[in-house]
Amino acid sequence: MSRSVPSDAEARRAIAPVICYPTETLPQPDLGLYRAARAGARRIAETLVPPRDARAFSVPAGHFFRITSVEGPQVGDLNLWAADDLAERFYSGKTRALHGTHLSTGDRLWSAFPHLRPMATIVDDTLDWYGIDSFGGGVHDVIGTRCDPYTGNLLSGSQYHHCCHSNLTRALADHLGLTLAEAEPHVHDVLNVFMCTGFTRDTGQYFMKASPVRPGDHLEFFAEIDLLGALSACPGGDCSAEHSSDTSACHPLLVEVFAPDPVALSGWAPPAPNGYDRSHGR
Ligand SMILES: [Zn+2]
Repeated sequence: MSRSVPSDAEARRAIAPVICYPTETLPQPDLGLYRAARAGARRIAETLVPPRDARAFSVPAGHFFRITSVEGPQVGDLNLWAADDLAERFYSGKTRALHGTHLSTGDRLWSAFPHLRPMATIVDDTLDWYGIDSFGGGVHDVIGTRCDPYTGNLLSGSQYHHCCHSNLTRALADHLGLTLAEAEPHVHDVLNVFMCTGFTRDTGQYFMKASPVRPGDHLEFFAEIDLLGALSACPGGDCSAEHSSDTSACHPLLVEVFAPDPVALSGWAPPAPNGYDRSHGR
């Protein structure tokens, strides 16, 4: 039985969209201040994330961290937590609602309720030229989740152990001395660094395509609060074909941390947690 189309169907479809969350009232990052601080910063730490594996790293508030493609095109899956509270973690869904499907310079990574404050601000993106391609694809998305062994098992009965979900679980467990069972619930939906993704126009399905990233490209962040990060070098490599097996060419990713001269950030302070009173109507 086919449903009859209402006579005003086209009129209903023709209604113009309204932006859900206009961002004009969001406190804007002072990119000029951050850039001035970055100019005098010195590198204090580096972590090389091996292919099909992940590593955790710490970034104090007011410091910068840069993720760089080295050796070959490679996608990275990024998790962030408040260094002193794993419950305050990156909230990709709300970040997407505020800034759109793909992030670049000036966009911020927001933390989960009840905190909802900027954890990090993107201060430099060498792929900002890419924009949105003719397929609707863009770079650095917050629309995917993270590749994981459960979906592979669901779809094909596989047992694959180097998806980003498992890599991040091992990295967090190793860094904090947790068991895998303790660490796993803290792994969350990611910022897909360097990944090129979108939704197909006809079926609305999530797609990926070969990342435009090349060695030397980087994405750099300013840490708004003390951060614990973890980055997985996805088993999909550049994610041109598949992402839950050992068949793709994979490369390491470099994470570097930079400390500014403290006087360069005088007057700056980490953002306060969200001001909602949490009484929820009672
Ligand atoms: Zn992955």
